[in-house]
Amino acid sequence: MRFQTVAVALLALPLLAQAAPPPRPAGWHGASLPPSFFAANRARLLEKIKAMGPRTLAVIKSMPLQPRSGDGFQAYRQDSDFLYFTGLEEAEAVALLDGDAPRPYALLVRASDPRRERFEGARVGVDGAVQRFGADQAERFPEAEKILRDAVRKARRVVLLCNFDDEFRRKILDWVYPPGADNNHGTFQKILVDGRHLAAEMRLFKQPEELVLLQAAVDASAEGHLAAMRATASASNEGQIAGAFEGTVRGLGARFLGYGSIVGSGNQACTLHYDRNDQPVAPGSLVLMDAAAEIGGYTADITRTWPASGKFSPEQRAIYDLVLKAQEAAIALCRPGRAHKEGYAAAMRILSDGLVDLGILKGGKDELFAKGAHAAFTMHGISHWLGMDVHDTGDYGMTPGQRGGERVLEPGMVLTVEPGLYIPKGMEGVDPRWQGIGVRLEDDILVTAEGPKNLSERLPRRPEEVERLVQSGKARR
Ligand code: CA
Repeated sequence: MRFQTVAVALLALPLLAQAAPPPRPAGWHGASLPPSFFAANRARLLEKIKAMGPRTLAVIKSMPLQPRSGDGFQAYRQDSDFLYFTGLEEAEAVALLDGDAPRPYALLVRASDPRRERFEGARVGVDGAVQRFGADQAERFPEAEKILRDAVRKARRVVLLCNFDDEFRRKILDWVYPPGADNNHGTFQKILVDGRHLAAEMRLFKQPEELVLLQAAVDASAEGHLAAMRATASASNEGQIAGAFEGTVRGLGARFLGYGSIVGSGNQACTLHYDRNDQPVAPGSLVLMDAAAEIGGYTADITRTWPASGKFSPEQRAIYDLVLKAQEAAIALCRPGRAHKEGYAAAMRILSDGLVDLGILKGGKDELFAKGAHAAFTMHGISHWLGMDVHDTGDYGMTPGQRGGERVLEPGMVLTVEPGLYIPKGMEGVDPRWQGIGVRLEDDILVTAEGPKNLSERLPRRPEEVERLVQSGKARR
């Protein structure tokens, strides 16, 4: 599906959260960004490496195949940096950008292998690399190995973007700095630069066409969450709830999940990276689901918590309300000029004071907050960048170009806001009526000049609405 079609599908998505289930949107099968997007990204990277000086070469490496078991691999998911600059979803590929060449882009691709291609489908090949992926020149391995080596040897400065291929990284390192080489030929004047920070800063600021896919990922995920909430009424096991989510988003065009789904009921909701999703759902327990679809290389990251029975107990509701209040406060701070960490501070203060109000923490509010007594319940940070990776790239500690200081939010950034409270069974010093409650709420926020835009707003968070949604599943049983 072309980009045009994606936009149309997005507009056609009906409003969610109506009493009657909306007709299922057609989805985003095959959604991807147009070649012009990747070409523009390459042009921007090229400008950056040119600015480093003459004879600078960027080398970008694809994701290696990931073994699954004996004779099988994980479904292939391209490295996000490589995808951002090439659009090519094939393993064993290398992209070169030569800062000095008039035709700077070379794409080195897999050898053709007619037998393997009968099993796996056609490979892009040299013609495809040029015609479909915009390369100025292309070559297949093993012949491409010579092009790669000569380019690295010729360069004065090599900017390497390689995330997960250690073997490749070592090869480039040895070419740039040959082990045991003498210095007769100026070998030691070469420079190897880790270029991933360049990609990180580019990816941190989302372009309009990226936001279309991010919104699609969020919308598909929201549909999945709704299906999971409704399925809870007839689910006796977490696996059925996970299945309702995953089946829905797959049906809407998500070839991948953005990360392994977390579907924890009762005490499992307090295990932050719980991923078995296979335990019985006890009546009266809470279900915490952190799950998202990836569409066209962009992922959402959404968490909702709901009562399995369709009605919060007073204790569950009190914790839920507190988390919601903390989340709202942190979302309100997602505006240009605010430091990224301000939301965290605001949410923690609300959670800490709220735990005192509920009698779960005992003592003076200022004193307890100062010593971080709430940390045993809040456990984790509440925000990260979001985009091609669920924990997307970009510096949190500083804004490049500004000395010291903090990372300040700017329009075009997308981040999660996800406070939680977790009170596992057996937690010392806590009244048993609070134990076995875990609540997290997570939404995806775009920073705009006007303030925060909650991309996942349409998926209800208000407790009454959440209860109604779960109950509507019961009615349809
Ligand atoms: Ca998450």
